[in-house]
Amino acid sequence: MTGEMIASESHHPTPPGGWPQPRAMYVHVPFCRHRCGYCNFSVLAGRDDLQDRFLDAIEIEIQTVRSREYGEALIDLDTLYLGGGTPTQLTRPRLQRLLAILMENVSLSQNPEFTCEANPEDINPETLAALTDAGVNRMSLGVQSFQNPKLQTLQRSHKGDEAVAAIQMASESIGNLSIDLIFAVPGETLAQWQTDLDTATSLPIQHISTYSLTYEKGTEFWSQRRRGGLTPVDEDTDVKMYRVSRRSLADSGFEHYEISSFAKPGFRSRHNAMYWNGHGWYALGPGAARFVGGDRNVNHRSPTTYIKRMIEQSDATTECEPISLDQHAREIAAFGIRQIDGIDLREIDRRVGYDFSSSIDSIIDSCEKAGLLIRRDSHVRLTQRGLMFADSVESQILE
Ligand code: SF4
Repeated sequence: MTGEMIASESHHPTPPGGWPQPRAMYVHVPFCRHRCGYCNFSVLAGRDDLQDRFLDAIEIEIQTVRSREYGEALIDLDTLYLGGGTPTQLTRPRLQRLLAILMENVSLSQNPEFTCEANPEDINPETLAALTDAGVNRMSLGVQSFQNPKLQTLQRSHKGDEAVAAIQMASESIGNLSIDLIFAVPGETLAQWQTDLDTATSLPIQHISTYSLTYEKGTEFWSQRRRGGLTPVDEDTDVKMYRVSRRSLADSGFEHYEISSFAKPGFRSRHNAMYWNGHGWYALGPGAARFVGGDRNVNHRSPTTYIKRMIEQSDATTECEPISLDQHAREIAAFGIRQIDGIDLREIDRRVGYDFSSSIDSIIDSCEKAGLLIRRDSHVRLTQRGLMFADSVESQILE
């Protein structure tokens, strides 16, 4: 349903307790120094001249959300997440303006999780102070690797030692650090991946997200691969790398709690859990998808169109999809199953107010027979083998 506005049905059936009132907000900041070859996000590279207009657009969007949902009151949140793109690509005064816009319109709960994504090359005492002054208490650093040749292949603009220095500096002011690491980069060996994991676990980090390199259609890497310029790591090595991650990170005290996510005890991402568990969330910025009042709405993906529409019409929505109760239940089950603890079907039935679990009984059965799921009463989770085929389990549940 891309490309055109589709009218929302405001009277579709609701769960017994009503649709969840969002307690989370995502803000997409699209600016980057350059576009990395594998990146498929909504990104503006080399257009920092648009930063002021982008902030004008965000201010209009958050004020619109606030007056629609809260009137004069502030938007109540437990988690706030600044992602992108690269939020720290904003110049410091503009980053401060963004933080001020947010603080003027939201009220964070007593124990909030306020995350900002950043690239290692942007970390310095002044930027860290600007973030912590505004209440940022979690940082997600786009490290990807500590090895220069791999970083070069990924077209990242930092060096390995800069990433180490950034982690050490950030950990002194923000005690909750997450990093992203990519594996299965062309030419990478199991031993090289182990080196990245060893470096990561020797540093003051509380959370690690690891992803196998993907070649998304429309990216430079996708074209290069088609032309034979990039050779993906073979599937067997890719699987071994994932297993090595699980073992190494567990040995270093990280709990594997979601397919791609590992955390020290007490440091699981509360913001991502809002998505995985089907709670509502607001989302601002280009390409941002929100789930509010039973509707999933998506903003225009092009940052320039987003800015123009928001400034001229106070709305940049291009997709508006009312979510049926059945779809809501399927999504809670399908995205929830990504979590290693699994899902409780009885709890999902309770949330949607009818016997949903019977409708996916045959799917759970067949996945159980295939060795992908384990069921104990109403509780279902992925097996070790299921972790490798989670996408297939997810799509079967969603169908
Ligand atoms: S820094 Fe991140 S968001 Fe920006 S282009 Fe690279 S991968 Fe994409």
